[in-house]
Amino acid sequence: MKSPENILTESALLYDSVKLLATALQDLDQSQSITMPSISCQTESQWQFGSSLMNYMRPITFRGLTGLVDFDQFGHRSSFTLDVMTITDNGLQKIGYWSGSQPSQPLNISEEWRDNYSIMSLANQTLTVTTIINAPYCMLKDSSATKVGNDRFEGYIVDVIDELSKMLGFKYKFKLVDDNAYGVKNESGYWNGLIGEIINGKADIAIVDLTITSKRAEAVDFTLPFMNTGISILFKKPTTKVTTLFSFLSPFSNVVWVYVLAAYVGVSSILFIVGRLSPYEWDNPHPCRQEDFVLENNFSLTNSFFFTIGSLMQQGSDLTPKAMSTRAIAGIWYFFTLIMISSYTANLAAFLTVEKVIYPIESADELSLQSTIEYGCLASGSTKSFFQDSNITTFKRMWNFMKNRDVFMSKNDEGKKRVQKGNYAYLMESASIEYIVERNCNLTQIGGLLDTKGYGIATKKNSRHRNLLSQSILKLQETGRLHMLKEKWWKQKKGGGQCAEDSKKSSSVTALKIDNVGGVFVVLLGGLSLAFFVAICEFMWKSRKSTTGCETMCEEMINDLKFSFACQSKSKPGRKKTYQTNVNNSSNYNSLSQPQIIRAQHFNKIDY
Ligand code: ASP
Repeated sequence: MKSPENILTESALLYDSVKLLATALQDLDQSQSITMPSISCQTESQWQFGSSLMNYMRPITFRGLTGLVDFDQFGHRSSFTLDVMTITDNGLQKIGYWSGSQPSQPLNISEEWRDNYSIMSLANQTLTVTTIINAPYCMLKDSSATKVGNDRFEGYIVDVIDELSKMLGFKYKFKLVDDNAYGVKNESGYWNGLIGEIINGKADIAIVDLTITSKRAEAVDFTLPFMNTGISILFKKPTTKVTTLFSFLSPFSNVVWVYVLAAYVGVSSILFIVGRLSPYEWDNPHPCRQEDFVLENNFSLTNSFFFTIGSLMQQGSDLTPKAMSTRAIAGIWYFFTLIMISSYTANLAAFLTVEKVIYPIESADELSLQSTIEYGCLASGSTKSFFQDSNITTFKRMWNFMKNRDVFMSKNDEGKKRVQKGNYAYLMESASIEYIVERNCNLTQIGGLLDTKGYGIATKKNSRHRNLLSQSILKLQETGRLHMLKEKWWKQKKGGGQCAEDSKKSSSVTALKIDNVGGVFVVLLGGLSLAFFVAICEFMWKSRKSTTGCETMCEEMINDLKFSFACQSKSKPGRKKTYQTNVNNSSNYNSLSQPQIIRAQHFNKIDY
C-alpha cells in the first residue's frame, strides 16, 4: 500500500471529497428519505435535495488524507496548511509553509532560506570588496592621502563596482588585500591573496584583474567574465638604429630589384637588335670618302648596355640614337628611369630617417630557445600557475628557465620597470600590456596570446550574490558600458594615447613592391613593342627604296636580317653603293668586289 507521501494530490483530494459526500448523504438520509428522479439536461431543473446536502456538508469535520477537512461559512476549506518545497541537491526539501486559515499572511520561509531566496539579498547590504593596486583597474588617487574610504581609489573596477552597486542597491567598502597577491594555492592546500581572503571571510567579493581559472573556481565562485585577455610578452623596443651595409637596397623589394635588372638587360638587348635592324642607324662615318661605302652602327652590344646604364644612372653617354625606333626605345627607357629613380630616392630618404626596429625575439618560442634575455612573471598569480602546470614543451621549457631564477615580480609595475632597464621580457596579461604600451612608447607587446581567459568577480562558494552580479555584468556588457569604461581608462585617462603617433610612423615605411611600381614595367614593355614595330617598318621602307622588285626586296631583307643577327660587327658594307656599282648583280653582299670586302674587313678589325 502506498504511503500518503506517495499519493498524488488529486487522488487525495478525490478520496477526501468522496468521504465527505458519503458522510453528508448518510446524515441527510437519516433525516428524510431521498429520492433520485431523473433530471433533464435541457431544462434548468435542480435536484431538490442539493441545498440540504450542502448544509449537511458544511459542519462536517474530519482528518482526511489532505489534512484537516473543514469549511467556513462560504463553503471554502479552512484550517489547512501548505508546505513550501524547493529542489536541492538532496531532492525536495521543505523550506516553509503557508497557512490557509490566515490567507492574508505571507509565506513563512525558514530563516536559513530566506536570505538565499530574497531578491533583496544584496539590497542595503554593505559588501567588503577586496582588491589590489594595479593600474588601470584600481589605483590610488593623487590626493588619496587627504581622503578616506572608497574615495581614495579610482580606476576601471572602481567604476564597475559603482555601476553594479547602483543596479543592485548594495553599498561597498574597499579593502586592499593584505599580502598583495592574487591567489595561488600553497603545498599545504591554503590559498593566499584575494582568493584566500574570500575563503577566510575577510571579504565578500574580490574584484580586480582577477583571472578565472579552474583551480580557483574549485575554491570560490566566479561571475561571468567582464573582460577577456590572455598571456603575452612585454618587451623593450631596441633603441639603436638598424644599420646594415646594404641598407641602400631597402627602398625596393627583392622582386623589384630583379625586375629592374631584367628590364636593364632586356632593353639593352632590344636596343642592340633594333639598332642593327633599323637602316637609319647605319651611317657612313666618313661622309667625304664616299668611295669607302662602309656603313657604321653605333649600337654594338657593349654600347647598347653602356647607353642604358648611363641613362639609368642619370649620367648619359656620347651615344645618340638616330632612328625613330631606337629613339622610341631611348624615350621609354628615360621615362622608366625617371619614375624608378624618383621612387627609389623618395623611399630611401624615408628609410634613412625612420628608425626600423628589429627585435631580438619575435615570439614565446624564440624567447624559450635563448638564455641571454631573462624573462619572468608575477610571483603569485595565474600567469605563474599557467607555466607551472603547462604540458606544452615551449611553456615547460620556459618554466624550467624561470623557476630557479630571480625573475618573479611582486607587482606588475616592478615587471614593467625591469623591462625598461633592458634585457628582460615580462610575461603578463594582454589587457595590462595594452595599458602599458599606450603610455610607454619604448615598450611593446611581442607576439600574440599564449592562452585566452577572462577576469571575473570572485564570491564565496555557493553565494547567491554570484547570479545577481553575473546578470548585472551581462547588462553592463549589452549596454556598452563596459566598453566605454575600458576606452576611458585605457585610452583617455592617465596619459592614454601618447604612443599613437609613434606606431603610425613606424608602420609607414616599407619597401616598394612590384604592385607599387608594376605600371612602369608595363609602359616599358608597351614602348619596346612599339619601337620594335617601328624598326621593322623602317627596315622594310628602306629595303623597298633600295631595290627594284619584290623578289629582290625580299632577298635584301633576308640578307640584311641575317647580317644583323649573325654578325656583331658594328660596320657593314654600304648596300646602296653596292647596288650602284654592281647594278647587274643585284645588291647581295656576296657580289661585293674584292677591294670592297677587304675595306669592310678592315673596318671590322678596327671597330669590332
Ligand atoms: N591576473 C592574474 C591573476 O589573476 C595576475 C597575473 O598572474 O598576471 O592571477
